[in-house]
Amino acid sequence: MNAEIIAIGSELLLGQITNTNAQFISKQLANIGVNVYYHTVVGDNSVRLVDAVEHAKKRSDLIIFTGGLGPTKDDLTKETLAKLVGRSLVIDKEAERSIESYFQRRNRVMTENNRKQALVIEGSHILPNDQGMAPGMAFLDSGIHYLLLPGPPKEMQPMFTTYGLPYLFSNLEESTQIISRVLNFYGIGESQLETELLDLIEAQTNPTIAPLAKDGEVTIRLTVKHQSKAVGLQLLDELENLILARVGAYFYGYDDTSLTKELITMLNDQSLSVAAAESITGGLFSSEITAHPGVSSIFKGGVTCYSNDVKQSLLEVPNEVIEQFGAVSEQCAKYLAENVRSLLKADFGISFTGVAGPTKIEDKEVGTVFIAVAKLGEETISYPINLAGTREQIQSRSVKYGLYCLLK
Ligand code: ATP
Ligand code: MG
Repeated sequence: MNAEIIAIGSELLLGQITNTNAQFISKQLANIGVNVYYHTVVGDNSVRLVDAVEHAKKRSDLIIFTGGLGPTKDDLTKETLAKLVGRSLVIDKEAERSIESYFQRRNRVMTENNRKQALVIEGSHILPNDQGMAPGMAFLDSGIHYLLLPGPPKEMQPMFTTYGLPYLFSNLEESTQIISRVLNFYGIGESQLETELLDLIEAQTNPTIAPLAKDGEVTIRLTVKHQSKAVGLQLLDELENLILARVGAYFYGYDDTSLTKELITMLNDQSLSVAAAESITGGLFSSEITAHPGVSSIFKGGVTCYSNDVKQSLLEVPNEVIEQFGAVSEQCAKYLAENVRSLLKADFGISFTGVAGPTKIEDKEVGTVFIAVAKLGEETISYPINLAGTREQIQSRSVKYGLYCLLK
């Protein structure tokens, strides 16, 4: 099943709005294992729309349209498509009633223009618009599925998830199950991961293996198609086992999890808490954790110990340590982690000290970072790392690495 998305609207071409509709639909389709191979944008122009559809027909089994379903002159999606597939436009009674009541509820007079929104392509399956007026529609023509959705995201998104996806489920390759699973990895680069799995990637057919690098992490999406869900899941399990036997050390969770979510779950499950001493990250770690609600039992708080003064006075890093090794050092990181842990009475203390740039500090290169993790009753572990990137990237990558250290 190959899909493509055609977004219609001159505002898109003029750069006045971003094509978030294509992004949203693509994500949803990826989740159910449908390949999206093309995104097209065309203006409100019938000739160019026909041209775009003619191209799409040659390469896709499912064409999804967004925009141009409204009542105005420039809204010409359904008129153009109806002509293209040789069908007429007919009034859909249900849609007409809902448009009438839409106007009644708002005490407004309905114009003939608005009635036009109840026109649908003959023989199509109607997708109700719970947030607006123009209904969506779906139909099959010459083996190709067409799905027409309105332009406004607040109408399009719920229509697609509530009515579009179930339509696709019941009409696409009826007897085939498509199941996806995403494996998330940290601490391994995309190319190293691909090298480790090269033979599997080259031999892939069903399930397919799709690695993707994002924000310093790598994910692998496994997708299987099978008549039987049970067999499909078994094939996924077998492939997953092969993959984890090689790179399992870097695996941290399934599907749309994140290092932060995993850490929060781990701390909650074990009734443990963490406190942070943040120099290079300036509070980013604390902010990352507290972006999630309900974390007060696992996150005690943080100290943004940006100046050496605060490192020494509040977190009691000895003078000699700063003088002998510098603030950007393993020794300093360890003191910070241990002392923030005891100061804030947490089970774990984590610290971040390093050089975010743009210039060296203490003769240490930009990207030099020390993270330390102190746990009550255990020896403090420090992690010297070297990160690349801009100041912002070095800071956010430090946070990710810290999350990872705590998860280990
Ligand atoms: P309406 O009934 O509002 O006219 P419509 O189906 O005719 O709906 P358009 O006229 O093409 O849709 O677009 C309406 C609005 O929806 C645009 O002004 C824009 O704000 C938003 N929109 C349209 N297409 C997209 C898109 N691809 N991505 C994000 N927003 C979009
Ligand atoms: Mg419109």
